[in-house]
Amino acid sequence: MTNQKGRQFFVLDETMNVGKPFDSRPAMLEQGQRIVCQRCGSSHRKPSVQLPIGSYYCPTCIRYGRITSNGRLVIQPTDSPAIDHHIVWPGALTPFQQKISQQLVSNCRQKRSSLVWSVTGSGKTEMIFETIRYVRQEGGRVAIVSPRIDVCRELFPRIQQAFPQEESLLLYGKSEEPYRYTNILIATTHQLLHFYRSFQLIVVDEVDAFPYEGDAQLRYGLYNA
Ligand SMILES: [Zn+2]
Repeated sequence: MTNQKGRQFFVLDETMNVGKPFDSRPAMLEQGQRIVCQRCGSSHRKPSVQLPIGSYYCPTCIRYGRITSNGRLVIQPTDSPAIDHHIVWPGALTPFQQKISQQLVSNCRQKRSSLVWSVTGSGKTEMIFETIRYVRQEGGRVAIVSPRIDVCRELFPRIQQAFPQEESLLLYGKSEEPYRYTNILIATTHQLLHFYRSFQLIVVDEVDAFPYEGDAQLRYGLYNA
C-alpha cells in the first residue's frame, strides 16, 4: 500500500485491516432507488449496475479500477514537511505580472479561488510560482493539473526547474513513472479522481479546455481532491 500514500484507493470490506491508521469512507452511497459513486460522483439506477452477488458497481469510472458498494475508499494520512523554496527562474516578472502574482498569494492565504484569464505566453505559469512557494512554506501539498497531457508535459520541467529542492511527479494515464508520494504533483485532471482532501492548492491550467469543460466527473474529482 505504500505506493498509494497520499491518494485514495479502493478496498473490499472483507479485506479491510481493522486497526490500520487509515481513514476511509463508503465507496458508494445508496439514495433511494439510486446508488452514487463517491469517487466520480455519478448516480446510477440500482438495477442497471447490480452485480450477481448483489452489490453495485460504478460503470462511469471503471477504467480507474472497479469500485463496488461492498467496499471503501481508503486514505492513508500523510504530512508534507514545509520547505521554504528559493524559486529558480532566470526571468523576472513585469510590474503588472508581479501585481497578479501577489494577488494570487493573497487570495490563497484567504482560501479564496482565483481565475487568471490571459493569452498563451503571457507568463501565467511564472505568476503562480509565489503561490506554490507560499503553500509549500506552510507545509501544504500542491497539484498543478490540466485537461491536456501536452500542457502537463510542458509544465513539468518548468516546475521542476523552479522548485529544485524537492521532487515533483508527472502523472497521467500512461505516464512512464508510476505514482509515488510527492509534495508537488503535475497531472491530468482525470488523475484527481484518485485523490481525496489531498491538496491545499490545486492549479488548473487551461480550465476551459476539453475534456474538463462540462465534465461533471472531472469537476467532482477536482473538488474532492
Ligand atoms: Zn464512479
